Amino acid sequence: MSFMSYLTHLECSKCGKRFETDKLQTVCDACGKPLFARYDIEGVEDAVSREELVGREASMWKYWELLPVKDRGNVVTMGEGWTPLTSVRRLGEAVGIRDLNIKDEGVIATGTFKARGLSMAVSKAKELGVKRLALPSAGNAAGAMTAYGARAGMESYVFMPVDAPMVNKVECQIVGAKVVLVRGLISDCGKLVSAGTEEMGWFPLSTLKEPYRVEGKKTMGIEVAEQMDWELPDVIIYPTGGGTGIIGMWKAFDELEWLGWIGSERPRMVSIQAEGCAPIAKAYAEGREESTFWEGAETIAAGLRVPHALGDFLILRAVRESGGLALAVSDEEILEAVRLMARSEGLFACPEGAATLAALTRMVDDGKVDRDERVVLFNTGTGLKYTDLFEVDAPVFDKDERIDYRSL
Ligand SMILES: *Cc1c(COP(=O)(O)O)cnc(C)c1O
Ligand SMILES: [Zn+2]
Repeated sequence: MSFMSYLTHLECSKCGKRFETDKLQTVCDACGKPLFARYDIEGVEDAVSREELVGREASMWKYWELLPVKDRGNVVTMGEGWTPLTSVRRLGEAVGIRDLNIKDEGVIATGTFKARGLSMAVSKAKELGVKRLALPSAGNAAGAMTAYGARAGMESYVFMPVDAPMVNKVECQIVGAKVVLVRGLISDCGKLVSAGTEEMGWFPLSTLKEPYRVEGKKTMGIEVAEQMDWELPDVIIYPTGGGTGIIGMWKAFDELEWLGWIGSERPRMVSIQAEGCAPIAKAYAEGREESTFWEGAETIAAGLRVPHALGDFLILRAVRESGGLALAVSDEEILEAVRLMARSEGLFACPEGAATLAALTRMVDDGKVDRDERVVLFNTGTGLKYTDLFEVDAPVFDKDERIDYRSL
């Protein structure tokens, strides 16, 4: 049971061109699309069975044969992954679904599932000799990259819009990253990172422009399979920004089928966006294979404020091949869903995660999901990173005042 990766090569997700894994890679040099890690599936099959996974460490690293890091000594981890998949009866009753479950990514280091992708990408970067990282980010990805960068002893440079959430600026600075605030959009930050890359010799870890973040995200799909005893649910509802979550899970299901660990059935993959930034939902509705740039993106669900995703065609493919759908919900519906989830289950979700509940409510109304189907919602982060979206409405008393307790 020794740690061994069966990574063989990288392959373009669009044109199939092959690339080596023993040096740093970004996107396909022929078509500019994301690269996927490929594994020696027969080797994995001989090395490990589903049963042998039981009892391994309770983190995403338990699936090491299907992960890209070759040497365990390069793994940069804070125990991310193996998050709870909880049956939520009260919430299910409230929305009319008998078998409703939440995969809660809010319990991970740095408070969001971004930790999976960045733990993986930073580990692989370390293995390939990177000393300096960079990222344009408006939020949680920056927090995760800088935390793992610190743990790996690397330098991190983060370029953020000046109006990025306070919590993300603080979490990056506290772990010692160089935080640069830009009067502009996330796309402007991206240009500044590209412009400085040669001079600074840093390695940018932007979504899908680096091949291994998606390998971290795919562990969510493997975990759901294992936690449901290798019977995938009927429907998975997932909030979509850059799309690594959905793309990663979809990739994981293929790998699990090749291994014979699951059959050919797939959950309907439902991709949720916010009405103020919904390029994927729009492309889906229009029957297109790729999305167009979304002008004036605006939503409280900051992780969904991605006007154009490099992997748009992969998200749309997963949605369509699975018989799922893509849809957008409003910020009002999202806030209402945060409250409903919190009151029913004690779970304070991030707005992105709550968007999946808002979408489920609509799908039940529209007959897009049956009350007897098994549904998994993904809460991608903790609401504790978003307290500035809420106000406290509580009575205030002087310490000596007599309180009419029954009126509270
Ligand atoms: C980044 C982010 C998302 C979107 O994730 P993708 O997999 O890149 O689409 C969703 N929720 C939260 C909390 C995020 O930080
Ligand atoms: Zn290509």
